[in-house]
Amino acid sequence: MEVTFWGTRGSIAKAGPTTVRYGGNTSCVSVRTDAGALLVIDCGTGIHELGQVLAREEGPADGHLLIGHTHWDHIQGLPFFAPLFDERNTWHVCGPRGLDTSIDHTLAGQMQYTYFPVQLLDFAAAIEYHDLVEGQFQIDDVTITTRYLHHPALTLGYRIEADGASLVYASDHEPSTSAPGTGLDREDALHVGFVRDADLLIHDSQYLEEEYPEKVGWGHSTVEYAVDVAVAASVERLALYHHDPTRTDDQVDVLVARARTRATDAQFAGEVFAAAEGSTITLRSDRESDARDPVETATRAPALAELNRAIAIAVSNPDIEDALLDAATAEGFEAVVCRDLDELADTVRTRHTPIVLAQAAPGRSLDELAADAGEVIAQVDEGVTVAYVSTITPPRYEIRPEITDWLVWPASQSHLRTKLRAWLFRRACRWQAAALPASEPERLVALWNLGILDTDPEARFDRFTEVACTTFDVPVALVTMVDAERQWFKSHHGIELTETHRDMSMCAHAILGDDVFVITDALRDDRFAENPAVVHDPRLRFYAGVPLSVSGGQCVGTLCIMDHRPRVLNEPQLERLRELGRMVDAELAATGDAPAGEARSDDQ
Ligand SMILES: [Zn+2]
Ligand SMILES: [Zn+2]
Repeated sequence: MEVTFWGTRGSIAKAGPTTVRYGGNTSCVSVRTDAGALLVIDCGTGIHELGQVLAREEGPADGHLLIGHTHWDHIQGLPFFAPLFDERNTWHVCGPRGLDTSIDHTLAGQMQYTYFPVQLLDFAAAIEYHDLVEGQFQIDDVTITTRYLHHPALTLGYRIEADGASLVYASDHEPSTSAPGTGLDREDALHVGFVRDADLLIHDSQYLEEEYPEKVGWGHSTVEYAVDVAVAASVERLALYHHDPTRTDDQVDVLVARARTRATDAQFAGEVFAAAEGSTITLRSDRESDARDPVETATRAPALAELNRAIAIAVSNPDIEDALLDAATAEGFEAVVCRDLDELADTVRTRHTPIVLAQAAPGRSLDELAADAGEVIAQVDEGVTVAYVSTITPPRYEIRPEITDWLVWPASQSHLRTKLRAWLFRRACRWQAAALPASEPERLVALWNLGILDTDPEARFDRFTEVACTTFDVPVALVTMVDAERQWFKSHHGIELTETHRDMSMCAHAILGDDVFVITDALRDDRFAENPAVVHDPRLRFYAGVPLSVSGGQCVGTLCIMDHRPRVLNEPQLERLRELGRMVDAELAATGDAPAGEARSDDQ
């Protein structure tokens, strides 16, 4: 894919002789995939020139506009984007869902008659607005993951994956640890997870470390922090972005030099540069882990079309019921109206309704509502989305896992429809089966040749899972073999199961790489948040698995540890896990050498 910078400046446009090289326009980046899909991230003043270029091209110019947040420097160019005034074009405008407003209303706000002569409705192109939350979705051949950044306005970072390459756009983000030199904390670790292994990271780096104490809470990063994130996440290239309007080109050069020194000191193998207006970067990944077949990924992830688009509704207010039924019909949902919670639970059990909407009865406490929701959930095997309609604002800071979401009444039709879509979307996307490795047929042959599948437990493997549990103080450790359709456990410490379906296997993800694969907090990771092993027993939150290789280099399985709480492993712990993995590798090698029957006999 091709990435072009149209605006690199933060806060306010700064045209003039001092900003010629890096550019004076505010935030705007375009992404064109090999197949021709056009994505535009943010629409600061830089989008004007992109619009002019697109308008000169022949034929319609369709695309998706991804807005990180609606501060001026990220939306001011929208009314000047030429393709929106061409009736042949179709544009999807996506941005973070506001707490009490939708993205189109927010954008319309800056175009009110008092401020601007053209209104949102004057756009001639067909425009669809989409309110986004954290999660993942697909545009043509592009996979997009969103994550909330740390900024005074609700701001989404975008991870864009296409053509075997990945780009992360993280502008307007402040470190979670404000004290300089304290390193990356847990929130930062999750940010690093979002950024991990990107071929290009475009990161906020508005300030220098010494300027930062004056700017705490303004929602921006220091150059030093941007480098630390790039190093920790092992990205290929870091583009310093959102340049301060007071910074001259020469000062940006100094900033780049400082960033490079810090990167070199940290033995960073990647490239560091400052984003410059008008420059284009072509991303093509040559990383081995990206050598997987993207089609396979798409087919193994649950597809929207396969989802059960049904909702069970139990509300006492007839106005709310009518509005919900209208929204459900408009979104193509089958709606089942229930009299009470018992009938609701019954509907979920018999018709497998994935989404349930109940009205919070007046006076019912949060504890009681959570208990009600828990009862509904207990009726089914898989996760069900339970939302409550509330006529008052729900308590924001007391989140109960049983209650998926709240719908505050009164709500507009578009709001109801967006909610329905979001619930369905999140269900579709917050659990991903792993892609198949590029060498899957050879890998399976190597596994089957071991002759280890479905053999009895052996002390020579069990000792490793026991040691792993003690060493890392975790309740569960496994030696898993990732088979064609299942993962089978050669050794299982702390869990009774001997196998699960491959689609829910975290180890199936781990075998795609060649180092320890870590899930810090599964509930906050869109690939695993709704994995049955996370939502239900054994309710895993943390996972770390080291791939196990046999001669020929094929990864047949993992040695992995798991916990019911989020965790972070430090470097000595990671090294210890690798070391244990190598010892299991040696046992596997011994298994492969001996006939299967003999390999088993030593413990029996
Ligand atoms: Zn900004
Ligand atoms: Zn901002």
